[in-house]
Amino acid sequence: MSEAKPDFSKGAAYINGQYVPISEAKIPVGDWGFTHSDVTYDVVHVTDGGFFRLEDHLTRFHRSLEGYRLDPGVTREEMRQILGKVVALSGLKDAFVAMVSTRGVPRVYGSRDPADCENTFIAYAVPWVDVIKPDVQERGAHLLVAQVPRISQNSLDPTLKNYMWRDFTRGMFEAKDKGFDTAILLDSEGYLTEGAGFNVFIVKDNKVITPDRGALRGITRLAVLDICPELGLEPIVGPITFEELMDADEVFTTTTAGGVMPCARVNERIYGNDRPGPISAKIKETYWRKHKEGWHMTPVNYADADN
Ligand code: PLP
Repeated sequence: MSEAKPDFSKGAAYINGQYVPISEAKIPVGDWGFTHSDVTYDVVHVTDGGFFRLEDHLTRFHRSLEGYRLDPGVTREEMRQILGKVVALSGLKDAFVAMVSTRGVPRVYGSRDPADCENTFIAYAVPWVDVIKPDVQERGAHLLVAQVPRISQNSLDPTLKNYMWRDFTRGMFEAKDKGFDTAILLDSEGYLTEGAGFNVFIVKDNKVITPDRGALRGITRLAVLDICPELGLEPIVGPITFEELMDADEVFTTTTAGGVMPCARVNERIYGNDRPGPISAKIKETYWRKHKEGWHMTPVNYADADN
């Protein structure tokens, strides 16, 4: 009797050199990725069967690996193939595709030397998810500037993608307690940084401004900076104070898992008519239209599932 085919319908993963259903992708409790949050990752999305800005995500991932001194021994070309294969196996046309490298388990039991660890490479594709739910995006998200400051970028480089979310998680609890959708954080000098899984933009006149500090260099942020000139808007990467945030015409957030997500409120401030602002809506519409036109898209080869 032939063995039953694995069920990849809820997602497919690559771990320990093998392709497995997502429910079987597990890391050992001794992995420093778990015990010390010693892990980096990146997430690229697939829409209509194509990766968006795959090469930009791979470049950022390699920068994060170098920054963390992680070497999982997998080439960029191999990563490209593995990412394509997990999507092909899942059969998903709209997916959230992660590449992860953990420090791993020390080769010598009990070692405290990170150089003793066997670094891992894990990849997986799961169905698309939105960081801010679609109905909330529709009405415009309500953001709270949390009391907790973003961890200093001198301690944790926010441009290297990481899972050290203690500050964000505290902020999210505070936001939910106070009836907001999610939180954004200022740094200890009072400048706007980012939120739990997204970058932030403000719109003032025809200027579209995103923080120059304390934040990941988001790939969706990059896409917005690229789109602005064709809409007659001036993209700016610069410092944003709390007062400037409150005085903005519009606010929106950006992420791979959601795209351009307009906001309607920050703290007690209500922007425009308490709905997504017109410039945010235009940028969002342009972002998705360009996806449909194939902008920066790399088609997934679904036949790879059988190879
Ligand atoms: N900021 C943080 C902390 C993130 O985790 C993410 C994405 O996960 C972003 C910003 C948005 O980056 P990107 O547009 O590349 O998804």
